[in-house]
Amino acid sequence: MRCAAGKQMGMKRIPECEFKTNLDMMTLVATRGRDFPIARLADRLRCPRCGSRRVAVFFDVPMDFSSVRALPTRRL
Ligand SMILES: [Zn+2]
Repeated sequence: MRCAAGKQMGMKRIPECEFKTNLDMMTLVATRGRDFPIARLADRLRCPRCGSRRVAVFFDVPMDFSSVRALPTRRL
């Protein structure tokens, strides 16, 4: 997740907080339940640093290419 506070807060220009942290997906699933919609996660989160509810959630998908074997290109 990343804090989105400071961006477009009306006419006032508030310094961006940009607090970032990694959320443990297993903990989230364990606390919220398996069927909790990930899209609604941002509504439930609050920045631990500035307390803003403007929190963006994004996902880091580990690129594990070792499990993906490249298909051999077929030559005609
Ligand atoms: Zn913040």
